[in-house]
Amino acid sequence: MELPFAESWKIKMVEPIRKSTREEREQWLKECDYNVFMLKSEQVYIDCITDSGTGAMSDRQWAAMMMGDESYAGARSFFNLKETITRITGFEYVLPTHQGRAAENVLFSYLVHEGDIIPGNSHFDTTKGHIESRKAFAVDCTIDEAKDTQLEHPFKGNVDINKLEKVLKEQGDKVPFVIVTITNNTAGGQPVSMQNLREVNVLCEKYKKPLIFDSARFAENAYFIKTREEGYADKTIKEIAREMFDLADGMTMSSKKDGLVNMGGFIATRHKDWYEGAKGFCICFEGFVTYGGMNGRDMDALAVGLDENTEFDMLETRIRQVQYLASKLDEYGIPYQRPVGGHAIFLDADKILTEVPKEEFPAQMLTVELYREAGIRGCEIGYILADRDPVTRENRFGGLDFLRLCIARRVYTNNHMDVIAAAIKNVYDRRHEVKRGLKIVWEAPLLRHFTVKLAPAGE
Ligand SMILES: *Cc1c(COP(=O)(O)O)cnc(C)c1O
Repeated sequence: MELPFAESWKIKMVEPIRKSTREEREQWLKECDYNVFMLKSEQVYIDCITDSGTGAMSDRQWAAMMMGDESYAGARSFFNLKETITRITGFEYVLPTHQGRAAENVLFSYLVHEGDIIPGNSHFDTTKGHIESRKAFAVDCTIDEAKDTQLEHPFKGNVDINKLEKVLKEQGDKVPFVIVTITNNTAGGQPVSMQNLREVNVLCEKYKKPLIFDSARFAENAYFIKTREEGYADKTIKEIAREMFDLADGMTMSSKKDGLVNMGGFIATRHKDWYEGAKGFCICFEGFVTYGGMNGRDMDALAVGLDENTEFDMLETRIRQVQYLASKLDEYGIPYQRPVGGHAIFLDADKILTEVPKEEFPAQMLTVELYREAGIRGCEIGYILADRDPVTRENRFGGLDFLRLCIARRVYTNNHMDVIAAAIKNVYDRRHEVKRGLKIVWEAPLLRHFTVKLAPAGE
């Protein structure tokens, strides 16, 4: 018989996790103001709040940590990292930062000015935050198919070329660059096809605009290109990644995702003037240009992580685990953003808690219900995250309302996936009993979802 699929690694070190009782969780929900970001991790049984910085490093990465050069300037670890990044991306200029949003902060300090318009495909929340805090505007040009969660589309993260051209044609003078997020996190970890990246590149050349990739999950994106797009089946992940980056002028990277490290980020570009323009901000906000907020040892671990995670076996293990969880949900008939993306399941709260009005944040309520059910922590990617319109200050209810369940890299087994699926089923089976959601008691003016305080609506 054909052998079943199994992980491309074995486990060398484990960390105990603890279950809790429903009574404990009820109490903890009150104490955290129904915002799971405010829970202690010991109060969580299976943590799916993010795949960011939560992965397990390999033995090779831990070994590399021991070789870290902690010199303030010119550390060997930096040159190791830079050589790896240049080899994978082709970008010659590299600035390390302590995480992805710091890369955005440094690069956007140089490139983004008040009144600018930055089109792209569903900007990530920190990306949007760094644009809007500079009184500039993020324009979402994602394809409409991404809004229909039940529609199957192999590259649901794609940019709508017509929408993008309209922005460039009508307001091109205000556009400093176009940013494409690979994979498209906000739309459900959905990939962007090479064909689409090529079309965006052609448009950018036509309107003489640089193209930046927000590259947090570029390796997962390359995996989808290899497995779904015609002509790529025989190419390696590294070849595909290089072909992608050949279409861009530069990248921001959260190394906490496809870099397989717990903290880190960087900017890489082919333009010397961007490097020269951004480096002062790096020194000011992050650190000297050869460490920019990272330890030497962490740069070495990242260099190894980037290499490991641009290998097919690693990505296949990871993405097939996410697909395994999705297949369980299919068995139970639970609606999520289809087809499942690379790093997470995005449950369609609108279609699950159908009786909770949108003003009471159904996806946040679903997050609370799943935690209450089994101590599983997900994250709302919906109306609370969408925040308020910067001008009208109205809640933005125009997008999708998801409960995102991220799968950490190399951390949980498929038994954990079975527990997650069963817990979701239990919540789904009693979905009609949930008629009210949550109300906001306090919120921050920017990036409110991290610290928002909520209470049951109608109480
Ligand atoms: C995580 C992420 C960021 C921000 O990176 P941090 O390391 O969390 O600061 C930016 N863009 C995308 C697409 C991300 O997933």
